[in-house]
Amino acid sequence: MVTWATQSVGGWGRFPIHDCPVSRPDGEEQVRSALSGSNGRSIIARGLGRSYGDPAINNQGGVVLQAQRNRMLAFDKTTGVLTAEAGVSLAEIIDAFLPRGYFLPTTPGTKFVTLGGAIAADIHGKNHHIDGSFGSFITSLRLMLANGSILTCARDENPDVFAATLGGMGLTGIILSASLRLRRVPSAYYQVAYRRASNLDAALELFDRTDTEYPYSVAWIDCLGKGSSLGRSVLMLGRDAQPTDLPDRLRDTPYQIRKQRTKSVPFDFPAIALNSWSVKAFNTLFYAKHADTTKIVDYDTYFYPLDSIHAWNRIYGRRGFIQYQVLLPRENSREGLIRVLEAISSAGAASFLAVLKTSGRVGDGLLSYLFPGHTLALDIPNYGPQLFELTRKLDRMLLDAGGRLYLAKDATMDAETFSAMYPNLNRFKAIKNKVDPDQRFDSVQAQRLGITEPR
Ligand SMILES: Cc1cc2nc3c(=O)[nH]c(=O)nc-3n(C[C@H](O)[C@H](O)[C@H](O)COP(=O)(O)OP(=O)(O)OC[C@H]3O[C@@H](n4cnc5c(N)ncnc54)[C@H](O)[C@@H]3O)c2cc1C
Repeated sequence: MVTWATQSVGGWGRFPIHDCPVSRPDGEEQVRSALSGSNGRSIIARGLGRSYGDPAINNQGGVVLQAQRNRMLAFDKTTGVLTAEAGVSLAEIIDAFLPRGYFLPTTPGTKFVTLGGAIAADIHGKNHHIDGSFGSFITSLRLMLANGSILTCARDENPDVFAATLGGMGLTGIILSASLRLRRVPSAYYQVAYRRASNLDAALELFDRTDTEYPYSVAWIDCLGKGSSLGRSVLMLGRDAQPTDLPDRLRDTPYQIRKQRTKSVPFDFPAIALNSWSVKAFNTLFYAKHADTTKIVDYDTYFYPLDSIHAWNRIYGRRGFIQYQVLLPRENSREGLIRVLEAISSAGAASFLAVLKTSGRVGDGLLSYLFPGHTLALDIPNYGPQLFELTRKLDRMLLDAGGRLYLAKDATMDAETFSAMYPNLNRFKAIKNKVDPDQRFDSVQAQRLGITEPR
């Protein structure tokens, strides 16, 4: 038997927040009993709640937490394939396998996400232009279906359910465990070239020029820049550091790093703290501080700079924030990005964190996010109804340019926009209908986007 308790549940953006029944099963039998004990109501799996909006929220039925189911089950040294329960976090995988010379094949900007959450969003990292998304490295997974049975899925076994589950935001079932191909690395460090670009054209040109040279790339972008400074950026281009690249004191222990001291945001900042003045001041400083240089940095510093500040999402205050992540096809990305940046800048919507990446091949999931182009992620404080007017305007621009939004970040899109952005939606729905005819897996997001029908 699992127990249910009502709690306020939100995503990382803390918008929206709903009261939901929550259960915490700790074994497969308990997961099954959460499914059968919910009396026919719908449920949704939840990992570490690092998606921004409402995909891991269900206020009609219940939320089934997964992070406590975090055992590593097997590791094959010849292939580097790790099999683990879906609640294991990427941080736990790094802690266990980096000392043996393995790292994640790709990683998002936080290591506090679960294996199940990474599969369900088919997440991407700074190496998407070379390696594709997380799903490319999943060799198989075990899924608990709506009727309580367990289905093994892979590219050659139940391939339709596999494709619907990668990027399927938990709507095909509960991923119980999965096998992930890890990557051998020469050290825990990266050689990072910091390159300033005075505007968007310079940034895109630099990405183009360095994409094959550096497997990892990302740009911090000043989204308050205007005129000839629109889109000024600092690119951070990374590659593995060999032990011989490391300073003497690190060469004998290349897989060890000094752990970051974690600071914490102890309370919700007042809404006024983040405004276009404070963001402008921060952006000016950041740009000035990053002169063109190359450094050796550890993986935490390169991949997870925000993880060193616990609960940093509180700086946006009680009303929370959204992350608006756009993807534009390569042929339209320059014009599309200019239009988006101009709209944000003229709305004075101070985005404290804005990150630009290049994207490569289409993912294997039916609802996988990326295709070849550029993707820009913008954090925007929730400043009320005008924010939603802005996102509607941006949605239309994005549709006109053949772009799309990312389900793991979305909190605002409507059903019509979503179906225009995701051409495989009907194929996804057909597979969901086959494995989950009564819509037992459902979320606030799935309802808003019309993936599921109101009950
Ligand atoms: C600071 C920060 C940086 C980020 N950077 C990136 C980035 O660079 N690239 C990127 O792609 N994403 C990024 N993200 C988003 C994050 O990687 C995804 O939202 C990821 O899905 C979160 O995993 P989670 O375990 O927290 O899942 P949750 O947020 O709890 O859930 C996300 C989805 O996964 C489903 N799910 C979770 N566990 C299971 C399971 N066992 N079975 C079935 N479905 C399940 C949920 O139902 C939900 O639909 C970032 C997030 C933050 C906070």
